[in-house]
Amino acid sequence: MKTHSKESQVNSIAKPIKLGMDEASVGDDLQRYFGLTLGRDEDSDSHHYLYSAVALTVRDRLVERWRATRDRYMEQNPKRVAYLSLEFLMGRALNNAVLNLDLEAQMRAVLQQYACELEDVNAEELDAGLGNGGLGRLAACFLDSCASLQLPVTGYGIRYEYGMFHQKIKNGYQVEYPDHWLRNGNPWEIESPENARSVKFFGHTEYYLDQNGKERARWVSTNDVLAVPYDVPVPGYQNGTVNTLRLWKSEATDEFNLDEFNAGSYTDAVAAKNLAEQITMVLYPNDASENGKELRLRQQYFLSSASLQDVLHRWVKRNGNGKDFSNFSAKNCFQLNDTHPTVAIAELMRLLMDDYFLEWDDAWAITQKTMAYTNHTLLPEALEMWPVSLFKTLLPRILDIIYEINARFLIQVAQRYPGDVERQRRMSIIEEGDNPKVRMAYLAIVGSFSVNGVAALHTKLLKAGLFNDFYELWPEKFNNKTNGVTPRRWLAHCNPSLKALITDTIGNDWTSDLDHLEKLKPFAQNKEFRDRWIDVKHSCKIKLAELVKSKCDVQFNPNMLFDVQVKRIHEYKRQLLNVLHVIHLYDRITRGDTEGMQPRSVLIGGKAAPGYAMAKTIIKLINNVAAIVNKDPRCQDWLKVAFLPDYKVTSMEIICPATELSEQISTAGKEASGTGNMKFMMNGALTIGTLDGANIEILEAVGEDNFFLFGLDAEQVQEARSSYDPNLIIETDKEFARVMHLVESGHFNQFEPGVFDAVSASIRSRDDAWITAADFRSYVDAQKKVALAYQDRESWTVKSILNTASSGRFSSDRTISEYNRDIWSRDE
Ligand SMILES: *Cc1c(COP(=O)(O)O)cnc(C)c1O
Repeated sequence: MKTHSKESQVNSIAKPIKLGMDEASVGDDLQRYFGLTLGRDEDSDSHHYLYSAVALTVRDRLVERWRATRDRYMEQNPKRVAYLSLEFLMGRALNNAVLNLDLEAQMRAVLQQYACELEDVNAEELDAGLGNGGLGRLAACFLDSCASLQLPVTGYGIRYEYGMFHQKIKNGYQVEYPDHWLRNGNPWEIESPENARSVKFFGHTEYYLDQNGKERARWVSTNDVLAVPYDVPVPGYQNGTVNTLRLWKSEATDEFNLDEFNAGSYTDAVAAKNLAEQITMVLYPNDASENGKELRLRQQYFLSSASLQDVLHRWVKRNGNGKDFSNFSAKNCFQLNDTHPTVAIAELMRLLMDDYFLEWDDAWAITQKTMAYTNHTLLPEALEMWPVSLFKTLLPRILDIIYEINARFLIQVAQRYPGDVERQRRMSIIEEGDNPKVRMAYLAIVGSFSVNGVAALHTKLLKAGLFNDFYELWPEKFNNKTNGVTPRRWLAHCNPSLKALITDTIGNDWTSDLDHLEKLKPFAQNKEFRDRWIDVKHSCKIKLAELVKSKCDVQFNPNMLFDVQVKRIHEYKRQLLNVLHVIHLYDRITRGDTEGMQPRSVLIGGKAAPGYAMAKTIIKLINNVAAIVNKDPRCQDWLKVAFLPDYKVTSMEIICPATELSEQISTAGKEASGTGNMKFMMNGALTIGTLDGANIEILEAVGEDNFFLFGLDAEQVQEARSSYDPNLIIETDKEFARVMHLVESGHFNQFEPGVFDAVSASIRSRDDAWITAADFRSYVDAQKKVALAYQDRESWTVKSILNTASSGRFSSDRTISEYNRDIWSRDE
């Protein structure tokens, strides 16, 4: 794929960019939007209208570049990529657009005339929380990198009316509130009703003979839903490129339930429109686990069908309405973000055969050359398996095609492994039984030319375990793409004082090539530079302390070590291990054993899936421990603990710059990659972590002197299981026994007896999948090394600088260059 790096080159091909980027032009536009379009005057006391006016001013400048980018892609006709994802965790758009358009200085100057700071305006924007956690945020970082690398990649997703729920804490418990993020309107979307598509549900397959007497299939008597696209601009970093995120909203078609209407129940027919509109109403709040709800499968098919129709429509239109697909796979690629949009494989077959009249073999060749699948987890509870019975009623034609794909695939398996019936049963896309199911991951592998994991260990484990049969059959399909994060949002935007220090020291090339951070390494030896580094970190800690004070009413001390674990609450991520360490510190402090101890402020945050009882109890435990610790005067100078409610992208933008110790303590072999670990490293945190996911690559990049490693590795975890005896471990470790006693004696739940019984039982269970007790001692010892290391302020700062300087590899620009090189640019 060809790229252009200069905005001027873009202008020469496409429409000229006319709107001024200088302070005067920006100021004039802002004034017009504020005073005329919105009809406000200067003493309007709300920042809200100012936000709207600023957003419209910035949006105009995005739209110009957006159209120019579209024209350029039309002209150059490059191979296109559609990134299909049920989640895009975008966060705020304004701050990112201002940075990527290089408008910050002008906008700040203009806003002074309104006695307002850019930060106050930014604060008016609600997060676009259309995702759960890592997977959704990865999709957002990828879009930023694709636009910054000027790659013709379109994101396709769902415009959920309600995004990720808001979390409040009441009496220590998580309470969920709906996220009606579109309430105040959304200046970052442009509705495009002329590009609406119709998506089929229910009905049945009908076979008929075409003009040539050939048997064909069509899906009839369906209940159709309209998919209306809302386009969101995705600006590249100061390069004139603006790509597209196309989000689909479901609406009732005009013919919706016409039968009922004709039968006289007009009001019933109108009320039934709700059913269509429900599809895109709410994001399912489950991270790394499936919930098997029918509405979720409807969302998956809705996204897949609308997006494929969109791409095929553009293809046919571009080729003079000809139905020649021979070149299609040379010009198109679909990247499936986990199995969620995997039904797209069968849908592409259906569209090519039923709508464009291709033969099976031709349609299959195209499908297998255009689909690429990214796996995100090894956890069995996250593997999607849809009941065949559900497919049969909801998507009957799709089920026919899945059966046919499977039949042909199993013949291939039988030819390759004659007589190995057991292997055919194992590899079948359909799991047989009383309630047969479609194994979506297997469909994804069979239908794709590329299958990738998201960190080196994860890909290795996929090949050796979960997908071993498929790896033996098709080793060439498997590849690794270690995740990354965008250094624009996660360093340049969120940590402006560190950005200034880095740029002052090594220039600003690092913002588009993060490997340049290596140039910081020699400065780690420079005392003056270290002092400036410490000052930056300290100022970020003060800001986080203010946030914690306002949200948790806990006073963090910026002179303490800031020890942070923020991520979804899940047993495999082991927030429980972190709490056990906090309780151990509390136990030491209260018995006067503070020798060598380092004062810490411990922050934990994250949402639990509403139906995940154990995760919710862990939140309650963290809050109750925090309450006891924070009110004990003996702890005052040693330990502060807070649970930050409603962890989201915008909170992470304040948290990661201030963090000194990044907790990445999952059970080895369970965290596919992690990306929070990368954001912290980039901002100069040291990691305490297990040999899991991308932690391993972080350790390799920064060296073991600059990383606190502990715990069993993935292999040792497997070996440990058979003879795992947590009660013996607890009995033989006095400090661990004291911690368990504090939990089990009701010390943290005096007025709520029994609320933590499930927690202690899980730690004591020989079947504890997360073997928390096995790593307790190793973790506590590693935390002692952290304390000692922190007390040598100069050497800690060297390590901090070396972490940032070694983080270049974890830019999503590197990840996307690899997707582009190995998957999207693959020759036929
Ligand atoms: C980066 C990020 C995540 C992923 O964090 P992990 O520690 O990798 O699980 C989740 N949620 C938000 C809001 C993030 O910014």
